[in-house]
Amino acid sequence: MYKNIFQAIKKKVKSHEGKGNIEFARVFPKWDENSQIDFIDYAILPKDTSIGFHCHSGNEEVYFIFKGHGEMRLQNDIFNVKPGDVIVNTNNSSHSLVNNSDEEIHVFVIQVKYSRDSVNAYKDDSKIATIGLDIGGTNTKVLILEDSEIKEFYQIKTPQINSNDEMIDFIVSCIKKLLKPDKDIRGVGIGISGMVNSEAGCLISSCFMPNINNLNIQQAVSDKINKPVYVDNDSNMAAFGELYLGSAKGCENSITLTLGTGIGAGIILNGKLYHGSTGRAGEIGHFIAKTAGEMCSCGKRGCLNMYVSQVALVNNYIKNGGTYEEGGLELLLSNKSEACKIELAFDEMCDYLAEAIVNLKYLFDCETIIITGGISNASELLIDKLKAKVKNKIIIDLWSDTFIRLGRFNEKSGAVGAAAKALEMYCYDGCTNEKP
Ligand SMILES: [Zn+2]
Repeated sequence: MYKNIFQAIKKKVKSHEGKGNIEFARVFPKWDENSQIDFIDYAILPKDTSIGFHCHSGNEEVYFIFKGHGEMRLQNDIFNVKPGDVIVNTNNSSHSLVNNSDEEIHVFVIQVKYSRDSVNAYKDDSKIATIGLDIGGTNTKVLILEDSEIKEFYQIKTPQINSNDEMIDFIVSCIKKLLKPDKDIRGVGIGISGMVNSEAGCLISSCFMPNINNLNIQQAVSDKINKPVYVDNDSNMAAFGELYLGSAKGCENSITLTLGTGIGAGIILNGKLYHGSTGRAGEIGHFIAKTAGEMCSCGKRGCLNMYVSQVALVNNYIKNGGTYEEGGLELLLSNKSEACKIELAFDEMCDYLAEAIVNLKYLFDCETIIITGGISNASELLIDKLKAKVKNKIIIDLWSDTFIRLGRFNEKSGAVGAAAKALEMYCYDGCTNEKP
């Protein structure tokens, strides 16, 4: 989001508008009309070289905006940076920023001097919070994200929803539980299972709610809660959550798989969510996994959803002679006497999942595949098996041990991503002309 800042600032400083330009307030949190850009530079740092700087805490900050990937060290802190990343120094003293990586790294340096008044009036930016919702076929998760941390979280069963009005009422009631006067909630992100036009904030259709069609959630919910709302597909939100704060942080190209009621994928290409031409990119639940296979809810046969999902797992288990009573994955996994049959069920599911992952790697050449969602809670049963199978099925040059990773937030990643997306859209929106 900071990618264009330097260019914009350079232009303004050159045209002598640097001092007191109120537009800078969107970028620098304590900015007012008496603040000024003190110093501006562009440095090229080969391996093991550094740039020194001095900063008076309280009224000065130094911003480093990076071009290129690598590891930087500032005092005892190590940062893995990628293009557009920013390190802000507010400590009072002289320091140097060291390039710890093998690659040459380019960095923009901007030193800002704030006025005394603006520093005194400054309200801590880290207290800005957003709400994230993840509405799935089985459960709905709701949380507050504040200062990059989950502050409150709850989960409820997604009820049977029969009309557009019921859908809006349900969403608004979920949000209102977390709208508290002591929180500075700036916006809401909503991830929902189904086909979503994220530009319009509209749910086109959803397999698990056949009665809901062409519902503009963004408009209707925003009108009722009086805050900006962003809507996208649940897998896309999960991918954004893992990119922003989780296991895909620092990766330019990553795919996050959500394993739950079905399987979905959120695709990040060149650091951005890829939606495709109709917003349906990542619907890998309908990859054809088996010719003339099981019938999927989409009306076609052999879809991956039928072989990689919680339902598929239970079906495999029953097929292997297991007896299953209603109660979900947790209960199934707690049955230690059936460990062998449960492992077989996972084994069978992982065959299909590994093949889908290999195909995704050939198609996108992504740096990493993140596994998240409800089933990923069974990580010990899943991850080693999956890694071994993918390694076995892929051309070995393309394999690395960090290629498949567990998500940081498991079943919460969709809600974290939704809140993070709202943060990026509605709290830092002025930073750049680029859409996140
Ligand atoms: Zn299907």
